[in-house]
Amino acid sequence: MTDRYKRLLREVRECTDALQDGGIILNSAHEIVWFNSAVTNLLGLDPARDRGQRVDNLIRHPDFVAYQEDPEGEVVIPSPRDPERHLAVQLVPYGKGQSLAIIRDVTRQVRLERTRRDFIANASHELRSPLTVISGYLDALAEGGELPESWEAPITETQRQVDRMTTILSDLIELTRLESSEDEAEYELVNVRELLEPIHAEFSGRSKSPRLELRLDAELALLGNESEVHSIFFNLINNAVRFTSEAGDIQIQWRRDGAVAVFSVADTGIGIQEEHIPRITERFYRVDKGRSRETGGTGLGLAIVKHAVQRHNGRLSIESQMGKGSIFECHFPETRVASPRSPQRVVVN
Ligand code: ADP
Repeated sequence: MTDRYKRLLREVRECTDALQDGGIILNSAHEIVWFNSAVTNLLGLDPARDRGQRVDNLIRHPDFVAYQEDPEGEVVIPSPRDPERHLAVQLVPYGKGQSLAIIRDVTRQVRLERTRRDFIANASHELRSPLTVISGYLDALAEGGELPESWEAPITETQRQVDRMTTILSDLIELTRLESSEDEAEYELVNVRELLEPIHAEFSGRSKSPRLELRLDAELALLGNESEVHSIFFNLINNAVRFTSEAGDIQIQWRRDGAVAVFSVADTGIGIQEEHIPRITERFYRVDKGRSRETGGTGLGLAIVKHAVQRHNGRLSIESQMGKGSIFECHFPETRVASPRSPQRVVVN
């Protein structure tokens, strides 16, 4: 071992030991050159047995294997030693052609996140029943015709607010369901044309809607979960309509792009400032809260879209120019592309 190498090793050891993180040095063939003592505890590796082995022979989780091929950010996987423990693994280039895998125990964060999600899901479900009762009484009051005239406006406004709360709760329930499902979406044949045409007709039929044009490849279908795909289409088209003036145009497309399928909604609406674009898929992030609320927004639509697209192994891209308009595109990989007449693909895990 050269002095330089020894020095590097010492530095890595000091860094990783101080943080109680695991550190594994891998050569260019992804074989283990060295690891610190925390790795034995976190992953159950044995220095005598496992040095020289390919790391993906020891960490076989498919998410890690996929991450290793395209290491961007970090990946969270269950520990091969104890599936109740969760580890975040980050690969960083190190030395000549080598890489360093840094492994952190994130079990506490994962559990906290799960508790948060369960809490939101439970609270939303609990709130739904009393809201249904309130809504029922309000409807009965409004239809009864026995109220003094001065009560009509407050009752109508209360109905509007109850409807808003109901929509927020439905969106919260949908989002937590999407966030907590660890599997990818199923591979059922979704006839995109049959989903898109009614949505297009619904929005086109509304008064004060911008002009909506739908262009679709009727021979192109998707393999996925129909209700989630509907949610993606509806939310993106609904947003385009809400943020575009009556005089504007909206182009909805469902097309092939090489091997992938693309759903895109382009509007000539208000646009989004560049600095907001990376954040608008976060829950409750709105550029203009007032406008979002006035137009019936919950602040959850794009978070739902992003998760639903990810569950279909796809990617959401957003381009926008202030005052010119925005383009939202969902790219679905080849594995999700089908033709409407093709038989259902059956996936056996
Ligand atoms: P909201 O219910 O507020 O629309 P979303 O999650 O759907 O929530 O969108 C988040 C925010 O992103 C919106 O409040 C708005 O500021 C911005 N946004 C979304 N779609 C568009 C669009 N087509 N044009 C301009 N801004 C948009």
